[in-house]
Amino acid sequence: MSDLSYQNKNAFDVLSEAELNEVSEYCEGYKKFLDNGKTERMCVEYAVSLAEKEGFKPFEDGKKYKAGDKVYLSQKKHAAIFAVIGTESPEKGFNITAAHVDAPRLDLKPSPLYEDNGMAFFKTHYYGGIRKYQWVTRPLALCGVVCKKDGTSVKVNIGSDPGDPVFMITDLLPHLAKDQAQKPLATAFTGEGLNVLLGSKPDNNEEKDKIREYVLKALNQKYGIAEKDLFTAEITVVPADNARDVGFDRSLIAAYGHDDRVCAYPCFTALLKTKAPKKTCVCVFADKEEIGSVGVTGLRSDFMNNFLLALCDGYNSRIAFANSAAISSDVAAAFDPNYPEVFEKHNAACINCGPAICKYTGHGGKSGASDACPEFISKLLAIFDEANVLYQFTELGKVDQGGGGTVSQFIADRNIEVLDIGVAMLSMHAPCEVAAKTDIYMLDRLCKAFYEKY
Ligand code: MN
Ligand code: MN
Repeated sequence: MSDLSYQNKNAFDVLSEAELNEVSEYCEGYKKFLDNGKTERMCVEYAVSLAEKEGFKPFEDGKKYKAGDKVYLSQKKHAAIFAVIGTESPEKGFNITAAHVDAPRLDLKPSPLYEDNGMAFFKTHYYGGIRKYQWVTRPLALCGVVCKKDGTSVKVNIGSDPGDPVFMITDLLPHLAKDQAQKPLATAFTGEGLNVLLGSKPDNNEEKDKIREYVLKALNQKYGIAEKDLFTAEITVVPADNARDVGFDRSLIAAYGHDDRVCAYPCFTALLKTKAPKKTCVCVFADKEEIGSVGVTGLRSDFMNNFLLALCDGYNSRIAFANSAAISSDVAAAFDPNYPEVFEKHNAACINCGPAICKYTGHGGKSGASDACPEFISKLLAIFDEANVLYQFTELGKVDQGGGGTVSQFIADRNIEVLDIGVAMLSMHAPCEVAAKTDIYMLDRLCKAFYEKY
């Protein structure tokens, strides 16, 4: 191959033995992050606890901050911003990373509990782009919070601990699935069919709905709640399994919610390691990306904007925003040899080839895309090369096969230049997704270079 030609490099051809040991060690921390963060609330809470240990303090709007100060803002406990104040004026711009910490799942309906034929169930309403068939016959956990009228709240977390019971959505036996098997995948499993089995034991002190009553008493004993408290609850059904290594070589991780905690974690850990940067460095954990970044905790809300404006106090915020740079860090689709037909092999991301850069997102004729400027990309690449960061360029699948968006467009709306960079993964949006450890480690290196050098 001549010097003019270019080929992606594989991390195993580039990283030293010592670096590969760092990869494994780094990913142990990531697996803990996943196991402790099966919902966006849990992710925010866990990350805040790690940040506080590193000296981060709750952000106070109106307070004057000095270089090296570390602050965090919790946006209604569903989203968060972590920042390290830089030595330079805000007008030089902010270095921002943004990843989302919500993931596809099943939420409980407001009135979820019912009994049918000797069993009790919860009705659910799915959240985000799930493939419904993947959620049946799989151990499930309940995670969330119940907020009571007296202002107190109770955390619900049952199913993920090895000693806990799990919950389950049943499926049809093949012997009786003749009609179902003829249906297209998209219609064979219905949203109203995703009902979670909760138990089968009656409470014989009651006259009727004895199994339902048993569940209510169990909920009351464990959490001190009654049925009406479920109206104000935010309880989600998530996979019970914790993160596991995959392969003889343990080079991959299978877990629920890689999308997009696999990017949020490196964006966050890189910030923790960034001491006294020149520019103020900001790491955003966004919520509601999976349903369009809407709502008060999604990135269409003003909370990130307001946080940055507060840091601009006394300076020209228009200049600050115009000089800011952002990495929208969200997962990319890795080439899957089981499904080569949906990928265009010249532009597909490969696992272990470093974080995947998407110049543009969107679908069809790039509809809904955030398309980064080449001047911006090349400036970033110079920094990544200097820091020995492995990266690759990609786009999401074949033209007109589908597509997707990220939070980048909502950052771009603020006149902040932004580029999409994330970990390439297999089985995206499945209850158990797969990502390569070297890619996760490499995103941490990339973010650190960006915070310190851009
Ligand atoms: Mn995502
Ligand atoms: Mn997603």
